[in-house]
Amino acid sequence: MLSLEQALAQMLEAIPSPTLDNVELCSLAQAANRICAEDVISPINVPSFDNSAMDGYAVRLADLAKSPTLTVAGKAFAGNPFKQEWPALSVVRIMTGAMLPEGADAVVMQEETILNEDGTVTFIADHIKLGQNIRKIGEDVKQNEIILAKGALLNATSLPLLASLGISQVKTFPRLKVAILSTGDELVPVGQPLTEGQIYDTNRFAIKLMLEKLNCDVVDFGILPDNEQEFEQAFINAQQQADLVITSGGVSVGEADFTKTVLEKVGQINFWKIAMKPGKPFAFGKLENAWFCGLPGNPVSALVTFYQLVQPVIAKLSGYSAWQPTQRFTAVATAKIKKIPGRLDFQRGFYHVNDKGEIEVEPVGFQGSHLFSSFVKSNCFIVLERERGNIEVNETVTIEPFNHLIK
Ligand code: AMP
Ligand code: MG
Repeated sequence: MLSLEQALAQMLEAIPSPTLDNVELCSLAQAANRICAEDVISPINVPSFDNSAMDGYAVRLADLAKSPTLTVAGKAFAGNPFKQEWPALSVVRIMTGAMLPEGADAVVMQEETILNEDGTVTFIADHIKLGQNIRKIGEDVKQNEIILAKGALLNATSLPLLASLGISQVKTFPRLKVAILSTGDELVPVGQPLTEGQIYDTNRFAIKLMLEKLNCDVVDFGILPDNEQEFEQAFINAQQQADLVITSGGVSVGEADFTKTVLEKVGQINFWKIAMKPGKPFAFGKLENAWFCGLPGNPVSALVTFYQLVQPVIAKLSGYSAWQPTQRFTAVATAKIKKIPGRLDFQRGFYHVNDKGEIEVEPVGFQGSHLFSSFVKSNCFIVLERERGNIEVNETVTIEPFNHLIK
C-alpha cells in the first residue's frame, strides 16, 4: 500500500504547473478568487508622501529649542496640504493623513499641547523625537517592489492591496474546468423517488460544492450506470471538455477491473491502494486531454480523498503555488478513540479550547466510511498516524481543522 505522502508526491510530480499561454487579463472584480499569474510590481510608494499619524502640530525641532510657545502658521488637512510660507518660530496645525509640510521634523499630538487664548500653542511634552508621528513615504510598500507573487490567491486582502496601488487589472490563470460524474447502478439524483436497493447520489453534490469553493468551473456529467459502453462514451466526452475529470465509485476491488479496461482505452490510470482510512482505493492518471482522479464511492471516503488528495492537485493545476494545507495542532483526546494500526486515519472530531486554554478534541459518533452524518457535527479531522493503535482519554492526538471547503 502507498502512503498518502507517496501518492500525493507522485501526483504533484506528474502534474506540471500551468503555462502562461492562456493567462487572462482581468479587472479586479473579475479576478476575485482566481490565481495571480504574474509577479505584481508596485507602481508607487505607499504612503506616496510623508504624512501625519496624529491630529496635532507639525514642528521643527530648532524652533522648539528656542521657545516652548509658538504661533500657528496655518493648517494641513488630509487631501488639503499646507502650501504657504512657513515662518520661523511657528508650527502647522495638522490632521491625520495630511501631507507633512516641508521641513517638519516631527508631529506632536494635540493632547501634549495647550492652545492659548492668543492663538499660540505651548508644547508640554517631555521629549519630542525627530520623526515622531510621521508616516514615512514607502513605509508600507516601496515603488517597484514585488507586492504579490505569481501563484497567490486573489482574495479580499490581496485585491484591495492592488486597488490601493492604483492597479486596476491583473493577469490570472484560467479557471480550472472540472468534469464530475458519479458511477453506480444504485444511484438516483436527489428529487426522484427511490426504488428498492437504490440510494441518493451524495458524492456528486459534495464534490460540486467543494469545487465551487475552489473557484473551479464545474461540468456535471451526472450519474453513470455500471455499463462499459456508457462509461467509455462518458469518459471520452468528459475529458474533451475539462482539464480534470473526477469520478466517484467503481475504483474498489471487483469494480476496478471494469473501470480499468475502459479508462485504459482513453488514457493511463493508476489504481492505487492508499494506506489511509477512509479512502483506500484511489485512481489517478492522465486521460488523452485531461487529468483524472477516481474517488472511492463511500461518501466519507470520497470527501476525505477529495480533501486530502484532490485539493492539492487542483491547487497545482490552477497555478496556486501559494496553497498550503491547513495547519495541524496537537489536542488532548477527551474520549477513547478506536484505531487499528496499518493506515493513516482521518476521523471526524469536534475540537474546542477549554478554560485553561488547551485544545481538546472528541471523536464525533461512529466513524464508518458510509456514515456521512458525522461530518455535520464535526469541525476537524483527528489525524491518527499509520502505526498507532487505540487512543486513551487524555492522550494527545493531531487535529486538522476543516478549511473553507467543508466548513
Ligand atoms: P463503489 O466504490 O462503487 O464500490 O461504492 C462503494 C459504496 O459507496 C457503495 O455502497 C455505493 O453504493 C456507495 N456510493 C457510490 N457512489 C455513491 C454516491 N455518488 N453517493 C452515495 N453513495 C455512493
Ligand atoms: Mg459502484
